[in-house]
Amino acid sequence: VSASSAPVVGVVGGGQLARMLHQGAIGLGVRVVVLDPDPQCAAALAGAERFDGAWTSRDDLIAFASSGVDVVTFDHELSAPDDLQALEAVSPVPIRPAPATKLLGQDKLHQRRTLSAAGLPVPAHAPVSAAAEVEAFAATHGWPVVLKAIRGGYDGRGVWIVRDAAQAAEVLAFAPNLLVEELVDIDREIAVMVARRPSGQVRAWPAMRTTQVDGICTEVILTAPSPIEDAAAELTRGLAERIGLTGVMAVELFVTGDGKLVLNELACRPHNSGHVTMDSCVTDQFEQHLRAVLDLPLGDPAPIVDAAVMVNVLGGPHPWGAAGLGAALEVEDATVHLYGKEHRPNRKLGHVNAIGASVDEARERALRAAAALGSPRPDR
Ligand code: ADP
Repeated sequence: VSASSAPVVGVVGGGQLARMLHQGAIGLGVRVVVLDPDPQCAAALAGAERFDGAWTSRDDLIAFASSGVDVVTFDHELSAPDDLQALEAVSPVPIRPAPATKLLGQDKLHQRRTLSAAGLPVPAHAPVSAAAEVEAFAATHGWPVVLKAIRGGYDGRGVWIVRDAAQAAEVLAFAPNLLVEELVDIDREIAVMVARRPSGQVRAWPAMRTTQVDGICTEVILTAPSPIEDAAAELTRGLAERIGLTGVMAVELFVTGDGKLVLNELACRPHNSGHVTMDSCVTDQFEQHLRAVLDLPLGDPAPIVDAAVMVNVLGGPHPWGAAGLGAALEVEDATVHLYGKEHRPNRKLGHVNAIGASVDEARERALRAAAALGSPRPDR
């Protein structure tokens, strides 16, 4: 432990989000320490300090919170809610976001119930454990329906669209407790990133347009928002206040065919939908998250460009090598962010942000740089 009086942010998990939190911490003179069992985790490789331990261990979480950090926050959703509540009860430092808030991003049934009780628009839904219950739901809402894992799903793993009772029974055979939802008529998907600090200040970035392929986010667009996108940002600011958010939160919404907003998913942490803020806004999501959890004044989320596009870099058939990196760096107005992770086909290894005078120009640059790194071109 150094003698400096710099604030120390403890991050549970040392993946790419923790790595980019560390990147954001450098300019603020803040120290980031990650709880991770892997000395080669993405954050440690970038120079973040590491506390050796498992985020699945209640004892390790408690030891981490007692190790001299000033606040505990998260890289992911993977710690058990019970462990986080136990941690909160004994931790000498604040847990931000609080476990009760974080649970909204960890348990889809709890989230749906909380948001609908607050009068917010969510898809019609019900917990189910038998095909007959899915059939009864479909009798009201129509086939097909969406089945979802209540906990533990991500990147579309844990989401099944089924068109009859037989298909529902097949899914329930290996995942016996699920959420059933109406299939929303989606015109497009958007995401709003918002930050709130404990003393109450709330700031949201403009809504981003997101593209999902097979449940995986492939592209995020930042451009001048439409009125419905402004409404989504307003709704998200209100939600951040209502749930007492501390830190950054991502809210994913559907814009329906008839022009309404429906809340789909939320995550109380920096998020793939917010990576585009790194090169296009006054304050990016990582610096903002650090400011928020340390209860420092929030930065300005306003865009500084006309249009920006983020494209994820997924592993291609081979590592990109020096030539691939060189070709990506040739692309004008594109910024490459790599996570230092070992190459594997289709693994999320980084992202590219590109800016431009128009969305098309920015997207073309981002795709060209990602392709130079071997990333398969996303089908849209
Ligand atoms: P995950 O938590 O795995 O990312 P999501 O709940 O975000 O899962 O769902 C992944 C994708 O599946 C969404 O981005 C959307 O494209 C589609 N989807 C999810 N729920 C619905 C629904 N009720 N109606 C229509 N499409 C849905």
